Amino acid sequence: MKIAVASGKGGTGKTMVSTSLAASLSGQITLSFLDCDVEAPNAHLFLKPKFTVEEPVMVPIPEIDPERCTRCGRCVEVCEYNALAKIGDRMLVFPQLCHSCGSCTLACPEAAISEVGKSIGTLRVGSMSSGITFINGELSIGEPMPTPVIREVKKAAPKTPLIIIDCPPGASCSVVTAIHDADYVILVTEPTPFGWHDLNQMLGVLKETGTPRDRNQSGRDWKSGDRRATRCPPPPHPDANPLPGRHRRQSGAG
Ligand code: SF4
Ligand code: SF4
Repeated sequence: MKIAVASGKGGTGKTMVSTSLAASLSGQITLSFLDCDVEAPNAHLFLKPKFTVEEPVMVPIPEIDPERCTRCGRCVEVCEYNALAKIGDRMLVFPQLCHSCGSCTLACPEAAISEVGKSIGTLRVGSMSSGITFINGELSIGEPMPTPVIREVKKAAPKTPLIIIDCPPGASCSVVTAIHDADYVILVTEPTPFGWHDLNQMLGVLKETGTPRDRNQSGRDWKSGDRRATRCPPPPHPDANPLPGRHRRQSGAG
């Protein structure tokens, strides 16, 4: 079973909840912990694993052979991410825009494009004295795409009966990558208008993607409308939260 802990808004205590869940279940079930918050991984500060493996996360980036290239511009046409440009007689590759989709390599009529590996982050694997397997990823400074690092973290996970995933904050593609195969998603929020707004955004993401699990079960498709996330009750407005007004005002101001 995979349980993802997400939040929408950052700073709500998502990592505290996910690490506490792991610590409270250690010894009762074999579990792995994945820190998919690759832009600021910090779960290791709470769980204190001993890392035994550290390796770079590589992505393929096109390299154009100027001898073979005829400057036909076909690769520029097929790149959906504007990672290639033809300036006069020169071909330019912008590695940080490249999504490593491989389309340009396939489309080049001269076989002038090869792919070279580029390191964008680090994958670490370790374990805790309690037996929990701990895996995290860290995106290198200046790299814009966390999703390949998150995918590597998830690929490295052993098939333990329980996997706890600490998700990145926000409601963007990196969160979708982290939660996409989860059986359950715990959403952590805070009693402020910001927390309420971002919680609603995350509920929207879950409804749209069909997470959790439904698209993986019994061949059901997320478009079938049979989605557990759609049955989530709407969150209460922060004005209706049970905290006394003084605390509410303080946390809202904070
Ligand atoms: S498609 Fe190939 S030959 Fe054409 S411009 Fe791109 S690299 Fe050069
Ligand atoms: S691999 Fe895909 S994203 Fe990267 S330059 Fe080629 S077409 Fe563009």
